[in-house]
Amino acid sequence: MATTSRNRIERLERELEFRAWDRLIRRRFARTRAVLEVWTTTTQCPERPEPLPGMSPIDNMEREDLRKLWKEEQQEWAGRNREDLAFFCLHGHWPERACGTECMKTQEREREIQGLLGGSNV
Ligand SMILES: [Zn+2]
Repeated sequence: MATTSRNRIERLERELEFRAWDRLIRRRFARTRAVLEVWTTTTQCPERPEPLPGMSPIDNMEREDLRKLWKEEQQEWAGRNREDLAFFCLHGHWPERACGTECMKTQEREREIQGLLGGSNV
């Protein structure tokens, strides 16, 4: 009985985590590049209304595919340390990938992020 209740609670927690991620990803896809840069740099999403249904490219995805995407993203973020996250905020990609045309690193972003991290090098 206790195991069954614990399993139900764990399932509900996972469902809640999935729904929170789903909401976040829909908001992320609905943002412009400028808003995403502010969000990435400050870690604060600028206040905007929720995207309307049909405005996100993931609105038409099947739930099973969404859950697969969620699990892939969880694996991508698992085990990341503070330095990895700071690098990601500065560059827009993980440290194991070389800087390329999609790299967002600029001196201005570096100064902003260092300020947010209390002067630590990024
Ligand atoms: Zn880079």
